[in-house]
Amino acid sequence: MKGRGYDPIRLSEVVEKQVIRPTLKMPLRRYYRFRYSKHYGGIYTADAVGCNLRCVFCWSYRYITNPNLGNFYSPEEVARKLVDGAAYYGVEKVRVSGAEPTIGREHLIALIDQLKHENVLFILETNGILLSEEAYAKRIANQDNVHVRISLKGGSPSTFHKITGACEEGFELQLEAIRNLARLDANFHVSAVVSFSTNDEIRSLLLVLKDIKDSLVTTFEPELVVLYPKVLERLMKANLKPLLALTPKGEIVRM
Ligand code: SF4
Repeated sequence: MKGRGYDPIRLSEVVEKQVIRPTLKMPLRRYYRFRYSKHYGGIYTADAVGCNLRCVFCWSYRYITNPNLGNFYSPEEVARKLVDGAAYYGVEKVRVSGAEPTIGREHLIALIDQLKHENVLFILETNGILLSEEAYAKRIANQDNVHVRISLKGGSPSTFHKITGACEEGFELQLEAIRNLARLDANFHVSAVVSFSTNDEIRSLLLVLKDIKDSLVTTFEPELVVLYPKVLERLMKANLKPLLALTPKGEIVRM
């Protein structure tokens, strides 16, 4: 990849070595927490460690930049915790959050397999960088128990670069993942962090999505950054001002 900023594919390889531990059976991955959350009307969540982007506004920044945090778990152990947690809270959705779940392909696919015969839907929240690889996207798209939520970081290559620090080509990788999932008729929708985008940029993004698949516009989910104290500190340090954001209490603020 060319251009200013790090290569997210290269970073994926580095992070994979740090947060995935190969074993004779299935690879283990580092997770730091298992918890219930109110998102999606109630979901039980495993928070993993390690990401291939470095979004300035990431609420989980500590866990994406410190690969030694958390403990290693097998796909079976994670699946068991998710299923038990979902049953305890009476919910039928589970997810991996706090990091990029697609790092460690075999771990993720084994986790999805483990969940297959359970009464839960796995929400795969991803930045989509690695699903730009068609073969990997195919393995995900084929799963009946998965709904993918691809979160675009901004609405254009330049905003993507500004808020992630990655090279602009990374935005095209996110779009390629969307094209792959659309072609494969996967169960998915697209969200985008719109806090740093002008209305024109968002309009152009929606046109791009419409061109890929009409329904991506009706299911589009705009995301605002949440101004937790540490996030605010990092935004100020990076001299980045969101146009629109959420306070930790959920109030919308125009800045
Ligand atoms: S892609 Fe998600 S987990 Fe990774 S740095 Fe950005 S916000 Fe954090």
